[in-house]
Amino acid sequence: MADPQRRWCFADQLGPHFLDAKDQPVLLIEARAVLRRRRFHRQKAHLVLSALRHRAAELGDQALFVKADTYGEALARVKGPLTVCGPTSRAADDFVRKLDGVTVLPSRGFVTSRDHFEGWAAERGDRPLLMESFYRGARRLTGALMEGDGDGGGGPAGGRWNLDKENREPPPADDELPLPTPYRPREDDIDEEVRADLDAAERRGELSFVGRDGPRRFPATRAEALRALRDFVRHRLATFGPYEDAMLADDPVMSHSMLSAAMNLGLLDPMECVRAAESAWRKGEVPLRSAEGYIRQLIGWREYMWHTYWHFGPSYTRRNALKARRRLPEWFAELDADAVQANCLSTVLRSVRDRGWTHHIPRLMVLGNYGLQRGWHPAALGDWFHRCFVDGYDWVMATNVIGMSQYADGGLITTKPYAAGGSYINRMSDFCHDCVYRPTSRSGDDACPYTAGYWWFLARNEQRLTGNWRLAPQLRNLRRIDDLDEIVARERERDRP
Ligand code: SF4
Repeated sequence: MADPQRRWCFADQLGPHFLDAKDQPVLLIEARAVLRRRRFHRQKAHLVLSALRHRAAELGDQALFVKADTYGEALARVKGPLTVCGPTSRAADDFVRKLDGVTVLPSRGFVTSRDHFEGWAAERGDRPLLMESFYRGARRLTGALMEGDGDGGGGPAGGRWNLDKENREPPPADDELPLPTPYRPREDDIDEEVRADLDAAERRGELSFVGRDGPRRFPATRAEALRALRDFVRHRLATFGPYEDAMLADDPVMSHSMLSAAMNLGLLDPMECVRAAESAWRKGEVPLRSAEGYIRQLIGWREYMWHTYWHFGPSYTRRNALKARRRLPEWFAELDADAVQANCLSTVLRSVRDRGWTHHIPRLMVLGNYGLQRGWHPAALGDWFHRCFVDGYDWVMATNVIGMSQYADGGLITTKPYAAGGSYINRMSDFCHDCVYRPTSRSGDDACPYTAGYWWFLARNEQRLTGNWRLAPQLRNLRRIDDLDEIVARERERDRP
């Protein structure tokens, strides 16, 4: 067999599953211009550079590691044909397809193929592309959590596809989830070098970041990622199901895996995480509702986000069905958690500032919900999420922020906007105990910005949302609020919550 051609691996294609053979020659490129184009979170820039440099060190002579200003400049220094797995952003995909001598292979790092998704979407016809329907197909295809002989021919394990109803539990009564500290990697010389390089680039004014620097919390190597996976399955997966939607001010991680960054760097194959969770359930180590909830995040939600990014095309991120045009305020853009009094928002923003991460419910129901209520521009918010989160990439934020969180696609993927008042946050967290506002109050000095903001959101979008059956009761209630004009006027002027 002929030697495989050199495989160009982007910085989010770092696992062994991006190669065809263990000894395949590899090209890795560190392009400085990427960090200049957007103002990323400092810890995200660190993680990506650290992971890339660790991979180069691990591969040794097998890899040609080129540091250059741009990809074009780096490629000019490389001889011979290359292959590359389909990149994860549209811009990179367009770029590699125009290059001579580069063969673009199908993407890797996902469980289902683009053809599989498009076949499913075609079958849906005019019906909405419901994630739940896609998820069931992915369960059948992979045999994950299926009864019978494991080929997907039997029914779902336990007789039900989705155990979400059992899983939406508020935090434990004493606001504590007694779990061991999550796995944290140990920094090494490569991290020290990355930190010194980023500090120097900042001093020279070449690069600028948001957020604070801090010890690396996320895996940068395959070995670290596998350790983090084992740690999650052993210590946190069992309670993931019941508490996946809950939030605690002093415990931002709770039962979450914190594996999304490793998976999005390509260090873990999502299917190995699915199998690890399934195996723990089959051995009786975790309840089905936790294994199912976690597996749905991977072969349901994650796959669906990936495919819809390509399916809806480049114009999707420009959608703005609710005509939301407000700019992101400075305190939000700069992650200035101390500038706001709303305890939920301040706590979550602090977590983003200090670690570039918070779990999916604070993202959706605290950060995204606030932007939706205030009418912030969806594309600007999508860009903010992309830059400020260690696991943020174009593909993951497009449908997630534009469609799911901001309803800017007018309901292509959700049946109603994810807008909620303070009662939801109060039920699902301990944030409201220590807040200057009252979650039930919509007017007066202690009016909760989420509760009042919810009514402002409905009032502003009443006409656009008329006809949405899921919002019909709330829209009817809207007209029963005596002081609605006052609430709207006050919320419109609210600067810092
Ligand atoms: Fe957030 Fe309102 Fe609760 Fe304060 S009262 S923590 S602003 S939801």
